[in-house]
Amino acid sequence: MSGDTIVGIDLGTTHSLVAVCDASGPRVLADAQGRALLPSVVRFLQGGDPVVGHEAREHAVEFPLQTISSSKRFMGRSHAESLRLAEGFGGQLVPGPRGLAAFQVEGRTVTPQEVAALVLDALRRTAETALGHSVRRAVITVPAYFDDAQRQATRDAARLAGLLAERIVNEPTAAALAYGLNRARKPETVAVFDLGGGTFDVSILRIEPDEQEKASDLFQVLATNGDTRLGGDDIDLLVMEWLMGRAQEAFGSLQLSPSVRQLFRAFAEQAKIALSDRESAPLEIDMGQGRRLRCTLSRSELEAMARPLVDRTLEKFRAAMTDAGRPALDRVIMVGGSTRMPLVRAAVRDFTGLDPYTALDPDQVVALGAAVQAHILMGGRRDLLLDVIPLSLGMETRGGAVAKLVMRNTAIPTRAKETFTTSADNQTGIVIHVLQGEREMVADCRSVGRFELKGLPPMPAGIPQLEVEFAVDANGVLTVSAAERRSGRRASLQVVPSHGLTTAEVERLEREAFAHAREDMHLHRVVDLAVNARLDLKWIGEALDRTGEALDPAYREELEACMTRLKGLCEAAERDPARTDADAFHQAKEALDRLSMRLHETSIARSLRGMSEGGGASAKR
Ligand code: ADP
Ligand code: MG
Repeated sequence: MSGDTIVGIDLGTTHSLVAVCDASGPRVLADAQGRALLPSVVRFLQGGDPVVGHEAREHAVEFPLQTISSSKRFMGRSHAESLRLAEGFGGQLVPGPRGLAAFQVEGRTVTPQEVAALVLDALRRTAETALGHSVRRAVITVPAYFDDAQRQATRDAARLAGLLAERIVNEPTAAALAYGLNRARKPETVAVFDLGGGTFDVSILRIEPDEQEKASDLFQVLATNGDTRLGGDDIDLLVMEWLMGRAQEAFGSLQLSPSVRQLFRAFAEQAKIALSDRESAPLEIDMGQGRRLRCTLSRSELEAMARPLVDRTLEKFRAAMTDAGRPALDRVIMVGGSTRMPLVRAAVRDFTGLDPYTALDPDQVVALGAAVQAHILMGGRRDLLLDVIPLSLGMETRGGAVAKLVMRNTAIPTRAKETFTTSADNQTGIVIHVLQGEREMVADCRSVGRFELKGLPPMPAGIPQLEVEFAVDANGVLTVSAAERRSGRRASLQVVPSHGLTTAEVERLEREAFAHAREDMHLHRVVDLAVNARLDLKWIGEALDRTGEALDPAYREELEACMTRLKGLCEAAERDPARTDADAFHQAKEALDRLSMRLHETSIARSLRGMSEGGGASAKR
């Protein structure tokens, strides 16, 4: 990429980030410490340079009068309007130029544009370091409800930061671009549900297909709704109250110092975040003076607390749908950290009847989309094959082999289903590892994600029926769902497997697969043989334990010798599958299968006898 690169910037209320897009798709740029999210917080020092980002946020409590956060709320707004917005923490607000809101810090007047400019400047420098050249042009996102004055203020902020705002794009539009919805083949209606820390926005967009790829021009905002005071922070407060209730039960009524309250709040958020992945979160808080609070918050308790807030988001969603004329929705996109909560996802799924898009990181999706728009402005196009699956998709099976469910060059949309089982007894969880590539072994494919199906009742190996479905929609978004039929447990994962994949890389992987086809087939065959031989050995061993003494000793000896031989071959195959003689291995396995017939017959005959002699009770009932 040249010095003419246009970057994409999500200038957020609490966090901001910068991304770029090339032929391999969009990606966010991290700072020298590897952090992509920059807190939109600035601390002003008397006679020194302002401090921007992480450090400013970390010390915000120590410097309440010098630190400005959430200033985006006041961008391009009048002073009077801002005072209404800021009830409670409006201490720094003063009338600025042209009656617009400004802040009073360290004896000087700072406008929201100047604060935004400092954030943009920090992002520009991050991008320059990451890319190794200067950056002068950007696509910047704003909320869909921003009026002209607010958009102009955003342009002014960019100019102050030495950036030309090539395009101001609506945040929901950017989210849709990140998912490639500008390539829709028919008109589509999309809802973007954005639940962050402090605010909630929902937008209904209409996309018209267009051969020219003008990107954001194709999106029309039909309606927006939301609440500037509804987000993850409110859930944290509810959890904090719950925690204080537990503390009161344990230690009697207490007067909490601000620092202990702050601590409770941090623990509350941590517990909430943990409960997006787990069913319960143990908490242990040292409250000082020898008081240590221990308690556990369960996901269902959290959900009961959060439910009214989630219901409010759905009311706003319903209102936006009404304003938009109640169109039929084709998709819903999730944006904002709080949409990681399973409750929020389920509520949106129930409300819309659609599986919401969650494949892209909800913190990054807006910046990624801004970068896609920037790429299109630079004259670029994704040079990937978009109507077909560029690389086969599959999952890891025992022994490190890959079972392919969707073959390369399949036209999208497509879906495929296969049934698997376990190879060890009493597995209560099964990890589904999703891969792409043409090779036969996991080590030679690209990992695109993994998830676990948990909470299975213990069952012997081979009994669980694990149904795995791969569904790729018209936008190339892959949903892998797994369900265990006997227990009804299910889990799923959504990813965009083409992200970060270039045409050159696809071609290289193809060539490699071709070059290794023979040895790969061999490896896959040996690994499968080893897994199946191990299962045979296990079953035969168990049958032998049950019926061994009833067998003819010569037969038993022959059987055991055959098992020892196969076990030896398994060990050798697992050590060095490449040098295993697959035909000899196969024959040894078949030989044991044939020889063990008699054992199975004896075993079945015995258990039938057992039933008619001693086990009649259950038959009579
Ligand atoms: P904003 O748009 O306001 O800048 P973000 O999109 O960054 O906000 O979202 C921040 C919110 O997301 C915070 O309330 C945070 O606690 C919440 N959050 C982040 N990760 C998770 C998670 N895994 N589960 C639940 N909430 C989360
Ligand atoms: Mg946001």
